[in-house]
Amino acid sequence: MNVRPQDLDLATAPRPALIDPFARAITYLRVSVTDRCDFRCVYCMSEHMAFLPKADLLTLEELDRVCSAFVARGVRKLRLTGGEPLVRRGIMTLVSSLARHLQSGALDELTLTTNASQLARYAAELKGYGVRRINVSMDTLDPDKFRAITRWGELDKVIAGIDAAQQAGLEVKINAVALKGVNEDEISSLMEWAHGRGMDLTLIEVMPLGDVGETRLDQYLPLSLVRAKLAERYSLDEIDYKTGGPARYMRVAETGGRLGFITPMTHNFCESCNRVRLTCTGTLYMCLGQEDAADLRGPLRASEADDLLHTAIDAAVSRKPKGHDFVIDRRNKRPSLPRHMSVTGG
Ligand code: SAM
Ligand code: SF4
Repeated sequence: MNVRPQDLDLATAPRPALIDPFARAITYLRVSVTDRCDFRCVYCMSEHMAFLPKADLLTLEELDRVCSAFVARGVRKLRLTGGEPLVRRGIMTLVSSLARHLQSGALDELTLTTNASQLARYAAELKGYGVRRINVSMDTLDPDKFRAITRWGELDKVIAGIDAAQQAGLEVKINAVALKGVNEDEISSLMEWAHGRGMDLTLIEVMPLGDVGETRLDQYLPLSLVRAKLAERYSLDEIDYKTGGPARYMRVAETGGRLGFITPMTHNFCESCNRVRLTCTGTLYMCLGQEDAADLRGPLRASEADDLLHTAIDAAVSRKPKGHDFVIDRRNKRPSLPRHMSVTGG
């Protein structure tokens, strides 16, 4: 990948930091590198998804350019996501080129969220480029249930991916979406398994994003209920551990491990939001739970220099809303937003 002169100037030509209208500094960019995936998780996608034409995607060089523009504006953490980031062709070229910002000290962390189906292949390489930890999404330890949730996934491959990641020295955090009547009775065993392998577990409330062919009310399990149930068996102590994301963490005395809760529905965490999300077509969403977005592909392609891009980023951040307003109840049968989670990634 070609490195342009302005990419080398991050340290010498500082640009103003990105501060939104509510005085929140934007220091975290999540990048969906593809909307495609080799799974069809029931809460994320419908079985028959229409994907974007390849011609609409930003090239790997363009993705690098946008990420680097954000790094120049004070973004310290980049997360690659999707769709499934590891199915994007040439993804390691992007990782290796973004790694230069880790080496220069401009970036604190380069990480990814993955379903781990391809992780066994890439784990050692990721570690070699300076990735220290990754999030793996896995909602159950039961192979049949796993297949039912992901429609197409194989649990064995995911476990092999996690094994490879740990062997390579990557820290792994497991993310699980809490699903009513599906993995509800399995959460303590999933937690004991994760903690037994030295991994944090973070639970996520299902969010009403995109039509997935099922009613959200049938999937939605409030984490307040999960927590109350776990508290009957375990001592959960709130701890002040932060990873830069929206999870709130507890220490589980019996396992010694950390348990995170991401509760967009029962507890709104927007007041401390530090992130924006870029899609694989160069659309910037300032909030996961709002429709407003800015096109960065136009300004990116309009000029070799990054001035137009920076102007577009400034305009976008100046419109970052205070927060989302997701609702799941009986009167709201439609998704709050038509966009699927795979467009912006988690
Ligand atoms: N394919 C990768 C994976 O599954 O880790 C990255 C993209 S996926 C969209 C990122 C995260 O979003 C996953 O942890 C997934 O469980 C979560 N997710 C997807 N749809 C969701 C929804 N409707 N509500 C809550 N979380 C969701
Ligand atoms: Fe694919 Fe991740 Fe969505 Fe599952 S949650 S369908 S693995 S993008």
